[in-house]
Amino acid sequence: MAQTQPCVLVVEDEGAQREVLKYNLEAEGFSVVMAENGDEAMLLVAEEQPDLIVLDWMLPNVSGIEVCRRVKADPATRQIPIIMLSARSEEVDRVRGLETGADDYVVKPYSVVELMARLRTQLRRTRPATMGERLSFADIILDAGEHRVFRGGQTLHLGPTEFRLLSTLMEKPGRVWTREQLLDRVWGRDIYVDTRTIDVHVGRLRKALMVNGGDNPVRTVRGTGYSLG
Ligand code: CA
Repeated sequence: MAQTQPCVLVVEDEGAQREVLKYNLEAEGFSVVMAENGDEAMLLVAEEQPDLIVLDWMLPNVSGIEVCRRVKADPATRQIPIIMLSARSEEVDRVRGLETGADDYVVKPYSVVELMARLRTQLRRTRPATMGERLSFADIILDAGEHRVFRGGQTLHLGPTEFRLLSTLMEKPGRVWTREQLLDRVWGRDIYVDTRTIDVHVGRLRKALMVNGGDNPVRTVRGTGYSLG
C-alpha cells in the first residue's frame, strides 16, 4: 500500500467544474471529496479533515469567503491550506483586501496544470512525505521519494506500515497523535483496524530505529498516543 494520499475537498456549485476538478485531482493520485455549497463544505471539513481545500469564491448562500473565514478562525482547521477560485481578477484583489486568510488564489478560467502546481506547492509544505520530499528529524532522514530511511548515515530497513507511520510522525515532529488519528493516516479512514494494532507497529518502528544503538525518538504520551520528540 502506498502512503495514504492527501485528501482534497473541492467546494464548487457548478457540477461540470466539480467533475473536471475531481478527474484531474484523482489523476494526480489525490483522494477527493466534494461539496456543492458552503454548509456542506463545513460539514466535510469537520468529518473528513481534508489536507487541502479548493474553494470557489462564488457559492450560493454561505459564500466561499465565509467558508474560508470560518475554516481559518477555528484552531482545529486553520492549518488546512485553502486555494480560492475566483471568476475575475478584480475579485482576487477584493479577496486579498478582505484578508480572509486563503493561502493562494487562482483566477477562472484557470489552467488545470497551474492549479495542480499550486496545490502541490501547498502540500509540499503541509504533507511533505506524500509529495516525495526528504524529511529530517535529529539524526533520522526519511526520503519519501526514494522510499528510504537513514539514521546516523546508516540505512534502516522498515516494513511498509512502519515507513508510513514514520512519515506521518516526521511530517509533524512534536505533535501528539491519538491512536485513531494515526490509524486514519497510516491505514486510511475506510479500513477498520483495532487501535491496539498501532502499538504493535510503533514497537516495530522503535526497534528498527534503535537497531544501531540510537535512542528512542518516539514518545508515548500516556492516555493519548504518540509523538516524535
Ligand atoms: Ca461557483
